[in-house]
Amino acid sequence: MTDSPLCNFCKSKSYKVYEKKFGDYYFMNIYKCNNCGLMFQYPIPSIEQIEKMYDKEYYGGAKVLSYEDERKSFKFNSYVWKARIKKIKRYINKTEKPKILDIGSSFGGFLSIAKEYGFDPYGIEISDYSRNYSTKLLGEDRIFKNFLGKFESEFFDVITMIELIEHLDDPKKYIIECYKVLKKNGILVIQTADMNGLQAKREGINYHYFIPYHLHFFPAATLTEKLKEIGFSNVKIFRPVEFGLLPKLLKSRRDFKSWKDYFKWFRITFYHLKGYIHFKNFSLTSSMVIYARK
Ligand SMILES: [Zn+2]
Repeated sequence: MTDSPLCNFCKSKSYKVYEKKFGDYYFMNIYKCNNCGLMFQYPIPSIEQIEKMYDKEYYGGAKVLSYEDERKSFKFNSYVWKARIKKIKRYINKTEKPKILDIGSSFGGFLSIAKEYGFDPYGIEISDYSRNYSTKLLGEDRIFKNFLGKFESEFFDVITMIELIEHLDDPKKYIIECYKVLKKNGILVIQTADMNGLQAKREGINYHYFIPYHLHFFPAATLTEKLKEIGFSNVKIFRPVEFGLLPKLLKSRRDFKSWKDYFKWFRITFYHLKGYIHFKNFSLTSSMVIYARK
C-alpha cells in the first residue's frame, strides 16, 4: 500500500523529498510542497510517539536530541521573557489584566514572568513532566494538556507559540483554533525559523531545524499567507526577533563557564545584526517572530 501525504496547508500531493539521517538511530524524510512551499516530516510520528518524546529525558539532556531544562537557567531566560512580554504589552495596548495563553508552556517560566507584568496566564503543555511542575507554579486550573476545543471563543488577548508551531502535526488546525479563541484585535505571536532565509537555504537538509521533534517547517511567506487566509488582518514579521540585542546577550551568560566566554558576544552580536538584513522575501538569517492581529 502506498500512502501519499497531503500538504497540511494546501492539500497538494506534489512535493520534493529530501532525506536526513541521525547516526544509526533515526532517519527522516522531509517533503517540500511544490504548491505552497510548506515543508514537513513524513510519515508524521503518532501522538503516542510524540508524547513519548517529551518525557523527562527530553529536558535532561540525556537524549541525543534534548531540550534545556529551563528551570536551571530561569534568571538568564527571564531577560528574554521580560523583553518579549514588554513588547507584547505595548502591542496590545491594554493594561487591565490581559489574558495570555502560551502554547508549549514548558515549565511555565515565561508565564510566571507574564503574570508579574499583570497578565492573566494560561498554558498548554503536552509533556506531563513539565506540565505537572508548572501547575504547581501557576495553579491547578491554568495549565492544560490539550488545546483544541478547550476554550470558548474570543477568550484571549494574546496567544504565544514560541518555537512550538514546528512541533505540531496539524499546524493549520491550531492556527484556526487560535483565531477562534482570540478576542477581536488580539494577537498571535509565532517564533519559528524562516525556511526561506538564506541561512536555511544554504545549509539545506543539514539545517539544524531538521530534527525528529520538528514536524513542519515554514517559509515566512507561506505562513504569512496562511494567517491572512484564516482571517488575521495585520501580519508583521520581526527580524531577527521583536526585541533588541541586550536581552539575548544577557541570556547567553547562562552557558558561560569562564570570562573567555564573553568573546561569544561578538558572534551573537554579529548574528543578531545580520538578522536585520532583509528585503521583501529575502533575509540573511532565518530568525523571525510573527505578530498577527485578529
Ligand atoms: Zn502546500
